[in-house]
Amino acid sequence: MDISTIINNQQLFFNSNKTKDIAFRIKTLQKLKSVIQENEKQMYQAIYTDFKKSEFETYIAEIALVYNELNDAIRNLKEWSKRKRVKTNLANFPAKSFIIPEPLGTILVISAWNYPYQISLIPAISAIAAGNTVVLKPSEIPNNTSKVLAKIINTNFDTKHFTVVEGSVDTTTELLQQKWDKIFFTGSTNVGRIVYKAAAENLTPVTLELGGKSPTFIFKDCDIKLTAKRIVWAKFLNAGQTCIAPDYLLVEKEIEHKLLAALKSEIELAYPIGNTINENYVQIINDAHFQRLTNLIPKDKICYGGEQNASERIIQPTLLQNISFENTIMKDEIFGPLLPVISFNNLDEVIAKIKEREKPLALYIYSKSKKTINKILHEISFGGGAINESLVHLSNPNLPFGGVGASGIGNYHSKAGFDTFTHYKSILHKSFLFEPNIKYTPFTKWKRQILKFILE
Ligand code: NAD
Repeated sequence: MDISTIINNQQLFFNSNKTKDIAFRIKTLQKLKSVIQENEKQMYQAIYTDFKKSEFETYIAEIALVYNELNDAIRNLKEWSKRKRVKTNLANFPAKSFIIPEPLGTILVISAWNYPYQISLIPAISAIAAGNTVVLKPSEIPNNTSKVLAKIINTNFDTKHFTVVEGSVDTTTELLQQKWDKIFFTGSTNVGRIVYKAAAENLTPVTLELGGKSPTFIFKDCDIKLTAKRIVWAKFLNAGQTCIAPDYLLVEKEIEHKLLAALKSEIELAYPIGNTINENYVQIINDAHFQRLTNLIPKDKICYGGEQNASERIIQPTLLQNISFENTIMKDEIFGPLLPVISFNNLDEVIAKIKEREKPLALYIYSKSKKTINKILHEISFGGGAINESLVHLSNPNLPFGGVGASGIGNYHSKAGFDTFTHYKSILHKSFLFEPNIKYTPFTKWKRQILKFILE
């Protein structure tokens, strides 16, 4: 079926009001849950074929989050969809006021390759929960994963409600030329700009989940061993190919050596055979990214790791020391298993450096000092983050997930996801019982005085 036919059919289906039925939405989400359960094995196999991501890692970082989102939406969407009464002001007396959550319509979801299941399915779940139709365009890069998604969705759901369209830049370009009620994009900041421009043609609202460099502060009052353990987990999960991975470390000079030693021993424990394929360490997604990453390594600054295996597309977890903000590796998002460490003495100077750059998607602080933590939270704008942890804020459904500035527009997960795909329609319902005549002509001095009292 061609793209414009799919969209026409989705628009017709949306206009039939079927998706506004709460029971229909819940049934669709329950079906999606059982479809995933039935095909979980295939999904694990596909992603393993694409970049050797293990079943365990795929479960904790993808499938478990998808089930969590499904269960949460199934449990709560009835409540979320209710119209809400609000107070009416004196000027409008006598009347009732309320807000009706209504679905936006036909939604385009475009996703990235690094967590191909969760960043494709979670926005689709929110869009369906909110009563929309969905066209999902997964990334073409993990080819087998994209195929499995297309197969399991397209054989189990009606194209006019929820469908997967596979393809690369040409297909995405064609999709972006259509008129949508919302576009939800996950990917790089550069492609985010292309999506935003295309959406502007039709005044289509967007949510952009983009990337950036996420700083991680480490202060001398932290628990160094546990800090190192948590950072190594967060950085080298998915071989660093995580949008909210700690991109670089900012460590107080006094503990730099202790921290580097702790990071080394945690890496050795977690990844004893770090430059070969094993069940704990994924591949770099393709040769182009492998090349990009290996070219980024400043050989004279390797403190640990740096070994590569081109045929298996594996780069050993790598620590880089004596790094400054001026080094090439500090220019763009790393998106791989390279961890630059910058040491500092003056916090204000480091904060100023971060503020010169684009707003980060995530930021992490390892410290026991409330004063230090609050200073950073107060002074730096970023999408979201964690204190004495990394990555895990993404897994709390009560925390809306998204960026700010160049790291994104809008947010999602749980109720925030429902809101992302919902228009809140404000209604004032007036009674016929009583009509104070003051707003009508003739406009007298006396009426003006009463209106001044009521309106101000
Ligand atoms: P990408 O921007 O290259 O691709 C994303 C999607 O856009 C893909 O589906 C791709 O087919 C499509 N696309 C690529 N080029 C296009 C073009 N010229 N015109 C139209 N469509 C195009 O991103 P990626 O490499 O798949 O993912 C990595 C980026 O995504 C990183 O920057 C990462 O930080 C970011 N990311 C962000 C989040 C988040 O939640 N904020 C999550 C995952 C990844």
